Amino acid sequence: MPPTSPPGAREDDCLFCKIVAGEVPADVVLETEQVLAFRDINPQAPTHVLVVPRAHHPHAAATAGADPAAMAALVAAAAEIARLDGHEDYRLVFNTGAGVGQTVFHTHLHVLAGRPMTWPPG
Ligand code: 5GP
Ligand code: ZN
Repeated sequence: MPPTSPPGAREDDCLFCKIVAGEVPADVVLETEQVLAFRDINPQAPTHVLVVPRAHHPHAAATAGADPAAMAALVAAAAEIARLDGHEDYRLVFNTGAGVGQTVFHTHLHVLAGRPMTWPPG
């Protein structure tokens, strides 16, 4: 049987683990002990930043279960990023599952701001 990684351990084939490790370049806007935030490569709004926990978990609920403080740190970082970009209003999104558009299976919080947004989302 192949060895299984401990929860939160780096995954070798994970793009966001590589960005956290500095192995793939990114436009970093905020760094803390627990999270890294960088601009989305395909922005959907004037501000479109991804906030990721340094520890690898496949989606938000897994991070919340393993490390609630990391979850709080993601939201706090998102608020700070919106403030730094000069936005009072912003949208936070966790896509969870391929069926709703998740393409990178390392928890990430989308911070979107700077244009009018409709509801419900598409
Ligand atoms: P998801 O679709 O999983 O919710 O979000 C993944 C996001 O990662 C997408 O918005 C996509 O544009 C972004 N993305 C994919 N590859 C890269 C990359 O190499 N660098 C950056 N900065 N963003 C990426
Ligand atoms: Zn990862």
